Amino acid sequence: MTTLQDCRALDAQDPLRELRGLFTLPEGVIYLDGNSLGVLPRATPGRVAQAITEEWGRGLIRSWNDAGWFSLPQRLGDKIAQLVGAEPGEVVATDSTSINLYKVLSAALRMAADRQPGRKRVVSERSNFPTDLYIAQSLCKERGYELQLVDDDRVEQALGNDVAVLMLTHVNYRTGAMHDMNSVTAAAHRAGVLTVWDLAHSAGAVPVDLHAADADFAIGCGYKYLNGGPGAPAFAWVHPRHADCFEQPLSGWWGHAAPFEFTPEYRPAQGISRYLCGTQPILSMAALECGLDTLLATQPMGGMRALRSKSLALTDLFIQLVEERCGGHGLSLVTPREHGRRGSQVCLTRSEGAYAIVQALIARGVIGDFRAGDPSTSSGQPERQDILRFGFTPLYIGFEDTWSAVEHLKQVLETGEWRRPEFNQKHAVT
Ligand SMILES: *Cc1c(COP(=O)(O)O)cnc(C)c1O
Repeated sequence: MTTLQDCRALDAQDPLRELRGLFTLPEGVIYLDGNSLGVLPRATPGRVAQAITEEWGRGLIRSWNDAGWFSLPQRLGDKIAQLVGAEPGEVVATDSTSINLYKVLSAALRMAADRQPGRKRVVSERSNFPTDLYIAQSLCKERGYELQLVDDDRVEQALGNDVAVLMLTHVNYRTGAMHDMNSVTAAAHRAGVLTVWDLAHSAGAVPVDLHAADADFAIGCGYKYLNGGPGAPAFAWVHPRHADCFEQPLSGWWGHAAPFEFTPEYRPAQGISRYLCGTQPILSMAALECGLDTLLATQPMGGMRALRSKSLALTDLFIQLVEERCGGHGLSLVTPREHGRRGSQVCLTRSEGAYAIVQALIARGVIGDFRAGDPSTSSGQPERQDILRFGFTPLYIGFEDTWSAVEHLKQVLETGEWRRPEFNQKHAVT
């Protein structure tokens, strides 16, 4: 049995403990939802205020040059590159995850069509995040491809010689299950298939090495583990062997080789800059940079590797405590126990009351979230298993927090508090 005292001792020995001071966490809140919206860094309000009052207010249009606004997508991209195993100049921070997926999937399809025109299939995972599937559906329809959705253990079998692109999310948003990016990419390449990886639940959460995996295209999200703030710019990466070969379809002027020549014909910039479209949200970029700096602050302490080992310790502890203290309440674990298959979240299922349990926890200051059970896989089961989702961000979550979260969960279950009507009313955002 692990006790509260044990957890306090773990916090006292934790070399990353001081990083919590980089964030503004409300009193009395245990925040287990950094996988949906990261916490506000302490530096962000001041930096955004400075961007507004000084750079915009006084600098006005001069700030495009003087404050470095124009090169923010590349400058922030270089910071993101350090977190995902890319080199400087290979990543841009821009647009949303959905839009970047449209750009890179479209580029991948064009590339595949030029090289191997007979391949007319895109493979993805049935339980991928819906926006990824929706974007792929629309592109497939437009270009005459078939989108084939498979279960996560059937991906490699699906890579036949009619497949053009494999599009996967590295860590599953619903279960926290993680693909082995290196081996899946290698299998795709053996089959002549290009890979598009969505790193929404990976960047800043688990070590990613895009070059070691020899991936082709990747995108990711700025407001989850990167702490960039609601609706923060996302990012795109293209392997340098492809970067200059293809034009992405949203060929706006920011991706032009010389935007301020104002020529009537589009001429794409070299490298990743052609993946930009139009004018960027500078205030959001300023906030994103503060979020990225909280992750880069871990570099002297071991960076993503140190974060990863704490993340695994936290999720191991959470799983252990739930099993020790909340047994007999109908909770099951859907997140893989195997470290190599686990992202930075733990998901529990329950056939009844998952939404209300999450609401009761939120009322107690333990913020996780709820995801409806997977409609595509529940058909064979007697009851749909809804998901209680708990994200662990080792930058600001500690071992005592984890202990307390499980204690609250235990009390919510034992008292039946979750049955109260106010916890059973659905909100628009779950
Ligand atoms: C969070 C998330 C998104 C979000 O896309 P937006 O364009 O920011 O709304 C996309 N894909 C995955 C896999 C995600 O987890």
